[in-house]
Amino acid sequence: METVLDVRGLSTSFFFGSEEVRALREIDLAVARGEILALVGESGSGKSITGFSITGLLSPPGRVVGGRVDLTGTNLTALSPEGLRAMRGKRIAMIFQDPMMTLNPVLRVETQMIDALRAHENIGRRAARARCLSALQEVGIAAPEARLRAYPHQLSGGMRQRVAIATALLHDPEVIIADEPTTALDVTIQGQILSVVQKLCTDRGTALIWITHDLAVIAGIADRIAVMYAGRIVESGPVDDLIDAPAHPYTRGLIDSVPASHPKGVRLPQIPGRMPALTELPEGCAFAPRCARATAACATPPPATEIAPGRMVRCVHPLTEGMS
Ligand code: ADP
Ligand code: MG
Repeated sequence: METVLDVRGLSTSFFFGSEEVRALREIDLAVARGEILALVGESGSGKSITGFSITGLLSPPGRVVGGRVDLTGTNLTALSPEGLRAMRGKRIAMIFQDPMMTLNPVLRVETQMIDALRAHENIGRRAARARCLSALQEVGIAAPEARLRAYPHQLSGGMRQRVAIATALLHDPEVIIADEPTTALDVTIQGQILSVVQKLCTDRGTALIWITHDLAVIAGIADRIAVMYAGRIVESGPVDDLIDAPAHPYTRGLIDSVPASHPKGVRLPQIPGRMPALTELPEGCAFAPRCARATAACATPPPATEIAPGRMVRCVHPLTEGMS
């Protein structure tokens, strides 16, 4: 499959005076045309910072300090802020948890969608408006004509998110990074929006990175999963392999705490302890303090190991040890 986004060794830090706090450490991610990659991990693991670092939306004191982000032949980390702005929206787009990160509260939906379209494309207002109308239809908005005339505050949360998604898809970008865009919505709407985005990306061949803390929501639609912990990808691979036989004890813990995998009324096992702050990460494996399998060997940073084609794990005691 044709890789459209290839992230290699991406590292990001926050700078406080002379102190450097490392937030992302050598992130490797790749996503192919039409593929859905789920980026999962507990809150604070670095998922949003990864999305911001890739799309150039990181704000000070955060800064990308290493690695490269290749978008079909263009290294995004080497672009100027203007160069990145020209890419964003057009070739790579981000959908946020809060749709108001995309929408302007004081403008009618049509005004901002038409402006977004005309910012990157030489197209007349009337033709642009027609495109916006069909974009709203494509994301499942009923009465799109009325919605075009509305202001964001006149729409429900789910509707606002659909408008933000339609806006992100206007230019038919090669890659979309969706950062927990349904987390604030109720379960029914969540499912609807997820399947709309899935269908649009599959139909158009758009590569999709879906960021979530909720493994259950994404497991059914993703092609591959990358699991993040304390600023590192600790495991990645095809969704079925990874769910059936997780290699990293952290992935196992995430899967075991999904409600659907247990009979009703049974108390879910939770991963003990919590993720350390970035300023107090241990030298070796950051998960070791919470891990039942940890030994002295975990005091040195575990290398990324390929345990099967397309499967990577960073653990010296993977659960797949002895399996083949
Ligand atoms: P996630 O999206 O996985 O919940 P984030 O990517 O938002 O996590 O955050 C990753 C880590 O970076 C967290 O420890 C968070 O506290 C830290 N962080 C995020 N933004 C900043 C900032 N502006 N300054 C310092 N630390 C930050
Ligand atoms: Mg986040």
